[in-house]
Amino acid sequence: MKTIKRTRVTELLKKDCSHLLEKEVNVKGWVRTRRGIKNVAFIALNDGSTIHNIQVVVDVEAFNNDDLLKKITTGACISVNGVLVESMGKGQSYEIQAKEIELYGEADPDKYPLQKKGHSFEFLREIAHLRPRTNTFGAIFRIRHTLSFAIHKYFNDNDFYYLHTPIITGSDCEGAGSMFRVTTLDFNNLPRKDDGNIDFSQDFFGKETNLTVSGQLEGELGALALSNIYTFGPTFRAENSNTARHLSEFWMIEPEMAFYDIHDNMDLAEDFLKYLVRYVMDNRMDDLEFLQKMYDKKLIERLNFILKNKFERLSYTEAIKILEASGRKFEFPVSWGVDLQSEHERYLVEQHFNKPVILTDYPKDIKAFYMKLNDDDKTVRALDVLFPKIGEIIGGSQREEDYAKLFKRIKEMNINPDDVWWYLETRKFGTAPHSGFGLGLERLMLFITGMGNIRDVIPFPRAPQNAEF
Ligand code: ATP
Ligand code: MN
Repeated sequence: MKTIKRTRVTELLKKDCSHLLEKEVNVKGWVRTRRGIKNVAFIALNDGSTIHNIQVVVDVEAFNNDDLLKKITTGACISVNGVLVESMGKGQSYEIQAKEIELYGEADPDKYPLQKKGHSFEFLREIAHLRPRTNTFGAIFRIRHTLSFAIHKYFNDNDFYYLHTPIITGSDCEGAGSMFRVTTLDFNNLPRKDDGNIDFSQDFFGKETNLTVSGQLEGELGALALSNIYTFGPTFRAENSNTARHLSEFWMIEPEMAFYDIHDNMDLAEDFLKYLVRYVMDNRMDDLEFLQKMYDKKLIERLNFILKNKFERLSYTEAIKILEASGRKFEFPVSWGVDLQSEHERYLVEQHFNKPVILTDYPKDIKAFYMKLNDDDKTVRALDVLFPKIGEIIGGSQREEDYAKLFKRIKEMNINPDDVWWYLETRKFGTAPHSGFGLGLERLMLFITGMGNIRDVIPFPRAPQNAEF
């Protein structure tokens, strides 16, 4: 076969690729469908560069290679040389009249699981190695890429530095749920101390280590030197919560800013979220429109809803009053001091305000040790951003910068100060007011794609009893 430089499908379908018209081009990709009439075969080819397929038209008689054509079935991978022409068919601008075809890999129609008909998301999770080849997951993973890129772009454009925080951590007081142990000890022959407990001084790091649940504590160290930093990496939680909003491994974005109070922090969170939604709308509308058409008629309306509304800001205490006065019967009853469940969060966002909501000043007893104590001595300068359909999408706070107050909280919460001596030292030497928050990438992905289950917005989900692929 003649060697011609490959052009991606997304390029070929652009209105402005007329310079290639009537020229011979090469396209490579996976066959979505193949149909035929009389002596013509139509192959819908996709290479993942766009939701749209390019149509390859084969004149069966002129081609004179039935053996090859027989193997061009759904899922097969081929390389095509042919002439780009304007398409007669409706809905597509250009198509390719095939001259030469090379078969890279066949896909036995009796065995290849992704035949044309729609599959359930549950089934597709079982074939996560193949599901990126569906239209739906192609769209989702392109959106995920664009969103990740936009996150870096936003921070870079706003003078934040990307700080890499460790994935293996020696502190277990990050305050965000159970952790996964990291060890090289021989489980069949564990070293014991005299009191019978395991002797972790003989473990790889000479101490107990775990996978991180958050990069925040180290992020604060960075902010108290570089002013504005962000982290963007995987985090791990060993909570046994089998919900549609929780993963055991998920990606978190955590900006941390010196000299920001809680109001600056809220302004940043709102601006950041709106920027990301707008960026995806500006750059992935094809994929969003596909998801809207297939699954969720209100998807783009909901994205616009975020852009056009100012987020409603109120305190936790005010929110509790609203929930109590609502007359609603919630599964989890509300009263001052309880942690809000997503049913409460969604009531506030979807029923009461009909706007995204930022709640602040939560009771100190339901929040982490590092949050700045208010003068009432009962609440802390926490903030949660609540979205429709999702509930909590961001959790953050102004941090306690006062050494004595922070030390007192650490003792009250039974954390060993020796474990966080380095964190405490930032409050001894040149302490400064500072704030930050954590955004779960997959929660935002759920919102932007309209998917119902968090396992469908990450390529290879990790969840209880589930680490295949
Ligand atoms: P939730 O109450 O929903 O479990 P959290 O209070 O434990 O959340 P944080 O510790 O504040 O959450 O984490 C910051 C952000 O990370 C959350 O706002 C959410 O977007 C995301 N997040 C937290 N836990 C998970 C998880 N298990 N899977 C996916 N995203 C998560
Ligand atoms: Mn949690």
